[in-house]
Amino acid sequence: MLADYHTHCLPWSPDADSSMLSMAQAAAERGLTHMCVTNHIENCAQEPQSSDQFPPFHDWDGLLREFLRVKEALGGRLDLRLGCEIGSPHYLPEEGRLICTQPIFDFAIGSVHNLRGKRDFYYLTYPQDFDEFRPEVEEYLDENIAMARSGLCDVIGHLGYMRRYMARQKKGFDMMLFEDRLRELFRACIENGVGIELNCSGLSDELRGFIPEPQVLRLYRELGGEIITCGTDAHSPDKVGVGIDESYGLLRTLGFKYVCLYKDHTPEFVRL
Ligand SMILES: [Zn+2]
Ligand SMILES: [Zn+2]
Repeated sequence: MLADYHTHCLPWSPDADSSMLSMAQAAAERGLTHMCVTNHIENCAQEPQSSDQFPPFHDWDGLLREFLRVKEALGGRLDLRLGCEIGSPHYLPEEGRLICTQPIFDFAIGSVHNLRGKRDFYYLTYPQDFDEFRPEVEEYLDENIAMARSGLCDVIGHLGYMRRYMARQKKGFDMMLFEDRLRELFRACIENGVGIELNCSGLSDELRGFIPEPQVLRLYRELGGEIITCGTDAHSPDKVGVGIDESYGLLRTLGFKYVCLYKDHTPEFVRL
């Protein structure tokens, strides 16, 4: 079993570079058994609407049509499922609920890509002195706590997202500096049946590491966290499935017994 539960494709994710069919074919060729298509839906996070945000998305029928066409083309070679990556659904809870309850989706990643009214962490220039950025990280974690409490997603996406972009500017920090907030977040997750994602996109980026890092995953485990999915966050076929094997290895080392797949927003536990 090898499942990539975080992938993007054109035209649904404007920052991707290939079609859903190319992504699914790459997954099958690389030996993946499962893949979930999780395109960006940033309808809730665009406050104020800025030029670097993605356009609002409501073409559920169009997305489902293409998904079914690709699923049919792959036949039994790949267990393909349709999900989404919702940017901060709790910023606009009504819209978040509308997305979450679309019957076309089996799975929803909730991702805080930007603080309220601010730009995506992707676009920021990070200060030399981490203390200047500390309040933003605190606010980021508080937003993740609020998102977990809202229940408007199945898993928390790439926790510590900014570390990917800080590393590109030769900067970084230890998430365990925020252990109190992480504990609060994981307790909120567990109480609300929300899992977390192990995102391996950083392995092939400047970061050279997992998001979140192993110590953070260990804390989640210690607190009783069991729901976890693995995803590459691939935006191109060459990245599909890359690092999933390594992710499973890390989870086993940390004492996780299962990785999750999703059907109708319900986790299916598969033994590691
Ligand atoms: Zn994301
Ligand atoms: Zn993504």
